[in-house]
Amino acid sequence: MEKKMFCPNCDKTQPVKTIQRQETLPVRDEKVSVLSELSACSVCKQEFATTEQEEENVRKAYDEYRKRKGLLTHSEVRDVRVQYGLSQTAFSRWLGWGDITIHRYESGSLQDAVHNEALLLLKDPRNAEKLLETNRDNLDEASAERLERAVAARLNDEVVKLIEEDLAATLSRSAPSEFNGYRRFNVERFENLVLHVLEKVGAAYKTAVNKYLWYIDFCYYRDQASSITGTQYLRFPHGPIPKSYDLIFAAMIEKGSLAVEEVSGKDFSGERYAPKARANTDLFQGDELKMIDGCLAALAAKGKTARQLSDMAHKEAAYLLTKDREPISYRHAKDLKLKPVPAKARK
Ligand SMILES: [Zn+2]
Repeated sequence: MEKKMFCPNCDKTQPVKTIQRQETLPVRDEKVSVLSELSACSVCKQEFATTEQEEENVRKAYDEYRKRKGLLTHSEVRDVRVQYGLSQTAFSRWLGWGDITIHRYESGSLQDAVHNEALLLLKDPRNAEKLLETNRDNLDEASAERLERAVAARLNDEVVKLIEEDLAATLSRSAPSEFNGYRRFNVERFENLVLHVLEKVGAAYKTAVNKYLWYIDFCYYRDQASSITGTQYLRFPHGPIPKSYDLIFAAMIEKGSLAVEEVSGKDFSGERYAPKARANTDLFQGDELKMIDGCLAALAAKGKTARQLSDMAHKEAAYLLTKDREPISYRHAKDLKLKPVPAKARK
């Protein structure tokens, strides 16, 4: 592309082309090769870099050098700061650095290795918590409080993540058997099935959600000799409930994918759930999704209050033939009364 620009060699405005050339630029004690952008005068053929081009080429060389040395890029420096909710100045002071240090790094200056180490450590909120204790006095009260909240939130995220990983690992430990529908428990499938059910039926009581899940897993097993989520269901007085479901729901609420509301009504009281994230239905194969939606349609046709669902489940042989607090065998699925509505019969 050609445009009119001042050529320093001809000392006047000339048609100039933008070209790219592999260049070697010195960065600290190293030589870094980058694809630089330059300008070439179409009249005298002289190549030169405008101020913007020079800055951009140096930035590229710096980024290449950072990659080589394991240094954070300027936008990664910014990301670390932003997650703690501090201004550039406050963040610098917290670390005990000069007021404009972070501003310089975020603008593209190369950080030294010690500063880089300190920034990397702050990716772990436990280190941030320690630094807040030792350097709190560097900050004004408002910044310190904002930082405290941000650190607490990050620590909380970390705990939720650990609990979730642990929970998923623990629950999926049970080998396939008649009690999980010959499939290892899969927390991702469970959570996304919950979200899909709530998207379809709207906000629902916890006890109702449990029954939707039970019917879906058992109906699919009756058809395909496998459950969808690998969940174990226990017989409880209010009906079948997924084992450890409270922990999974709690993790979803903490993560922000599920909203919970305590409701006390005339007919029914309890926790009501609503979805706060989109269900990823890609996790389910075509026949699984068909069964899920067919079951939901069949349950909706029979009335879908928590009480109606509960009454229905209590009449199932699977429930009647299982002792209290015991796991319900998927073998009973063959006697389920519920018949899913085929896709073509649904609107
Ligand atoms: Zn020229």
